[in-house]
Amino acid sequence: MDKQLWVLCPICNNKTRTKVREDTELINFPLFCPKCKTETLINIKHGKVTIIKEPDAKTQSR
Ligand SMILES: [Zn+2]
Repeated sequence: MDKQLWVLCPICNNKTRTKVREDTELINFPLFCPKCKTETLINIKHGKVTIIKEPDAKTQSR
């Protein structure tokens, strides 16, 4: 059986229109939230959302 989860917006915590499975992996995924109309760059692995901050950050710590 497929187990699918709605991805929650990391900004306002509402459901987005994006679904993932438990074994879905998304990297640098631009998640669009229809509620706050914000696009957030995220990673998803094992159903867990990680926000990517400043994708074009000039200040790299290395
Ligand atoms: Zn939102």
